[in-house]
Amino acid sequence: MKELTIQSKEIHRGTLILVNPTHPVTNQPIELVFCPHAQSGPKMEKQAAFYLSKLLCSLENKETILTVSGWRSQEEQQQIYEEARKEQGEAYAKSFVAIPGCSEHQTGLAVDLAKRAEKIDWICPSFPQEGVCETFRRKASFYGFIERYQKGKESITKIAPEEWHFRYVGTPHSEIIQEKGFALEEYLLFLQNYTQTHPYRFRKEGQREAEIFYVPVFQNGTALKLPDDAAYEYSGDNCGGIIVTVWRDFRAG
Ligand SMILES: [Zn+2]
Repeated sequence: MKELTIQSKEIHRGTLILVNPTHPVTNQPIELVFCPHAQSGPKMEKQAAFYLSKLLCSLENKETILTVSGWRSQEEQQQIYEEARKEQGEAYAKSFVAIPGCSEHQTGLAVDLAKRAEKIDWICPSFPQEGVCETFRRKASFYGFIERYQKGKESITKIAPEEWHFRYVGTPHSEIIQEKGFALEEYLLFLQNYTQTHPYRFRKEGQREAEIFYVPVFQNGTALKLPDDAAYEYSGDNCGGIIVTVWRDFRAG
């Protein structure tokens, strides 16, 4: 067994962190790189950019899709929010631009995508539910992305539906979220029902099984024992704990 001590600051790091009006961003992204398929040079987290690039490369007519926004600093988010408020009013700004400090764009894990056009609305770009955009949406979860603000989830996310905003959470989490029709908020609550001794198990045909569970992290840190013979990763939830994923080797039958 491998023994780890999870520090309380780790709650706020990782690809599964929840960022919404009640869960502000507390860390800067670790490594920013340029977004694939962008014109003006937005950046995003390296791992998210890698999988976005892979996803785009899997599409025909991929040049139709443009990345219009990626990581934003606190200052940029503030500026976008103020401009939207001035031009379109408070209600619009609150619906479509997260309040500064509470935007997923500040994590570097979110991107806004547009269908290439002569005129693009930078706040609410068009990313229609047809053609290559819909194919992207259908494949997104296999590459770790989710459509973050879906119709019908407004009371949970506090953000109006944004069919152009995608968030990287990593696989298999994106696939479970997609399969169960969860918002990220719902997924993280759901995982609180699973412990190391009773994990949530996810397995796709021919692939390794993932055991997923929640571990609360206390102010002085939390000890965690993990098997020596299995790969694992963990991410904070930005709420009070971490989500651990342990990969079990594929066993036939
Ligand atoms: Zn966005």
